[in-house]
Amino acid sequence: MAGTDYRCPHCGAELRGDPRRRGSRPGGTQGCPYDGMAYAALRAGHDAIYFGPWRRIDALPAEILRGYHRIGRHLEVIRATLTGHDFPAAARDLDEAIEALHAADPREDARDALRFMDNALSYAHRAIDDLLRKKGDPPHQPMDFAEWYDVVEVPFREEE
Ligand SMILES: [Zn+2]
Repeated sequence: MAGTDYRCPHCGAELRGDPRRRGSRPGGTQGCPYDGMAYAALRAGHDAIYFGPWRRIDALPAEILRGYHRIGRHLEVIRATLTGHDFPAAARDLDEAIEALHAADPREDARDALRFMDNALSYAHRAIDDLLRKKGDPPHQPMDFAEWYDVVEVPFREEE
């Protein structure tokens, strides 16, 4: 895909391509695939990690470490979103995500770390879906947004 990286000023997504391209909604913000969607920033944060280089089969240790820290920051954003609200299902899944991330230490066994990191991201996804369900919205489907990211390959899928 041609183009350069840019950060969507609307939802904060780190995207690739032409920021002037049409967004997901007719008449919506240009260059924003999440425009008009509930929890756009959480979806964008999730997908930037989901399609990140740490998940490539040939990921470098530094990329894996960066992915680890990004998951940590993503979980903090989810936590901030939940604060002050009564979202028990999302809070439970967030706790599971934090626990999985704590089990991952990319400086130790990389393969184990990747498994726990994927687990943590999967629980983060569930927490987002819990929030969407409360709104009556369908679950978030990262693959619907794949064309907006620099996807080389996704070696393993989240277990749902
Ligand atoms: Zn956006």
